[in-house]
Amino acid sequence: MTDRPLLNRVALVTGGTGGIGTAICARLHREGAKVIALDRDAPKSEMPEGMRYIPLDVTSEDSVKAMIADVEANEGQVDILVNAAGIEIEKTIEDTSLEEWNLIFAVNVTGTFLVSKMVLPLMRKTGAGSIINFGSYDGFIADPHLAAYCATKGAVHALTRAMACDHGPENIRVNAICPGYIDTPMLQSFFGDSGDIESLKTAVRDVHPIGRYGTPDDVAGLVNWLAGDEARYASGQLWVLDGGLTAQVQQMKL
Ligand code: NDP
Repeated sequence: MTDRPLLNRVALVTGGTGGIGTAICARLHREGAKVIALDRDAPKSEMPEGMRYIPLDVTSEDSVKAMIADVEANEGQVDILVNAAGIEIEKTIEDTSLEEWNLIFAVNVTGTFLVSKMVLPLMRKTGAGSIINFGSYDGFIADPHLAAYCATKGAVHALTRAMACDHGPENIRVNAICPGYIDTPMLQSFFGDSGDIESLKTAVRDVHPIGRYGTPDDVAGLVNWLAGDEARYASGQLWVLDGGLTAQVQQMKL
């Protein structure tokens, strides 16, 4: 058994230069995969050998097609796809414009659909594959003022199950990771910078049974497991990763 279980696998990671995506790219690379970070933002530092960046707007069919052409010409196959690109809009439905509603669906839902759809032919070439989508615990229960975001994550959960049913017979597994509070720029933006934010952050942290927020590396660990052969029988599931947050009866905290 090699100590680099993902050797010779090709992994695409959308949102690959974001908070969670950066940690996923580093972890899959360490496990031996050839990693391609896909994002609209270029990486902040030079990438090591075996990792490269392709600019991608997940909402644009032309951009996804150009990325696929590049990967097909240079790598010729895809074994792992992680759909981690995402945005958040912190509003109730009354305050959300139709433009904002369409934008968040375009990134979080249509982006997952478009990239997965166009990756499938390259995944079929190897006779196996693992697709890991990003849902959220907000796809099950709601944080206040995140209405459109919650709706997109519920849609990703449903899409994940549907994709797993359709592509399981060709040995392509599809799962979603549903994180709770993970310490990234997205979480910082959720907390904002007005009022007594530090007290709020501490209160939210302390409500977690594990007693801390998640880190991007915590998420990368689950991605690594779902991507590899150890998870060969895992498909169609929504893997909540939240430090026990949603396991507890909330009124016991009152
Ligand atoms: P980040 O904002 O740190 O990273 C998201 C990345 O996606 C950014 O680099 C962002 O670029 C990129 N992106 C946004 N729109 C597009 C687009 N149209 N095309 C390509 N890339 C795009 O967020 P996280 O790393 O925290 O989140 C990763 C995933 O995890 C998301 O799907 C999020 O919803 C989910 N999640 C995160 C939680 C958390 O607590 N952090 C909790 C639950 C789920 P840019 O910076 O330019 O916007």
